Amino acid sequence: MTIEQTPLLQRYQQVKGHIAKLDPAGKVRLLAVSKTKPIEDVLALAENGQLDFGENYLQEALAKIEQAPSLCWHFIGPIQSNKTKPIAEHFSWVHSVDRLKIAQRLSQQRPANLPPLNILLAVNIDAEASKSGLAVDEVLATAEQVAELPNITLRGLMAIPKKSDSLAAQRKPFKALKDLLTLCQTALPNQTLDTLSMGMSGDLEAAIDEGATIVRIGTDIFGART
Ligand SMILES: *Cc1c(COP(=O)(O)O)cnc(C)c1O
Repeated sequence: MTIEQTPLLQRYQQVKGHIAKLDPAGKVRLLAVSKTKPIEDVLALAENGQLDFGENYLQEALAKIEQAPSLCWHFIGPIQSNKTKPIAEHFSWVHSVDRLKIAQRLSQQRPANLPPLNILLAVNIDAEASKSGLAVDEVLATAEQVAELPNITLRGLMAIPKKSDSLAAQRKPFKALKDLLTLCQTALPNQTLDTLSMGMSGDLEAAIDEGATIVRIGTDIFGART
């Protein structure tokens, strides 16, 4: 470690090292969740090779994207239908599509000069009353409808499970999400359904054990949010 390395870069390298140990084949993509953190932090990580950044709040995200338009930006926050246009125009991925109407609007509003928008369906995997996301038994029918839409590519599923402390308990909902993706892949063999967005700072290991392909890490890279 060089002396000029900041704590941010140290934490980033630690997270990368942890992921490399859990995923020696290098199949897991690290999404750095930069919500509430300054653009300077984003640019510092980008200089060190980080490509993918995740944001929850649209106005904040748009200001950062304007300053770093060549990075790969992922929208991971709740989506109101009147906010789909700027999302369709400025992001490469959306992880939080929780109903057909949102996918339809993103499809209609994706500019023709951009590649298809990558879409993940958000699943309420633990059936929590307080949480948005599709119910498990709605996922397949929604996936079949979303797969028909132009200008977007249905890439897979995303979930934020309930917090639990043991590795075994954390693995259960991730396994359920993986099984649900397998069901969708079988029903839709012509789609590029290759993505499981699961795992955050507190449950990264369980998620990678169960086949995550994108992990969304905020706190462990950027420090606690105030
Ligand atoms: C904030 C957030 C994260 C990152 O969470 P950490 O616990 O800080 O790693 C991941 N995914 C979503 C959807 C988030 O809102």
